[in-house]
Amino acid sequence: MISVIMGGLYNICMGLLEGRRRKKKKKRNVAEAIEALKAMNVRTEATGADYREQSLTIHGLICAKCAREFEPKDRHLLTVHHKDGNHRNNPKDGSNWENLCVDCHEDEHSRGLLGDYLSGDKG
Ligand SMILES: [Zn+2]
Ligand SMILES: [Zn+2]
Repeated sequence: MISVIMGGLYNICMGLLEGRRRKKKKKRNVAEAIEALKAMNVRTEATGADYREQSLTIHGLICAKCAREFEPKDRHLLTVHHKDGNHRNNPKDGSNWENLCVDCHEDEHSRGLLGDYLSGDKG
C-alpha cells in the first residue's frame, strides 16, 4: 500500500508540474498495469496441470492397462499418460489421455520409444 501512496504523491507532483492531462494519462497506465497483472494470474490458473483431474473424471479411477480399480482416496496412485507423448496436447475430450497406475505407467515408458520421457515430469 505504501507504493500506492507514493504513486499518489508522484501523480500530484506530476500534476502540479505538468498539468492535469499528464496526471490523467499516468493514472490510466497504472490501471492498465493492474489489469495486465490480473490477466496474468488468470492465465496461470488456467494452464495449471488440471488435465489430471479432467482425465480421471472422463476415464474413471481405473488403470487403462491392468484394469486395476482405485478408491477415490487412492486417486493419487493413478497417473495420466499422454498417448502421443506430448504433454501440451491436452484435448478436452481426453482422447490423448490414458489413466495408468504407477507400475503400468513406468512399464509404458520403459519400452524405449518414450524412455527419456520420465526424466521430465510424469505424463
Ligand atoms: Zn496398471
Ligand atoms: Zn506417460
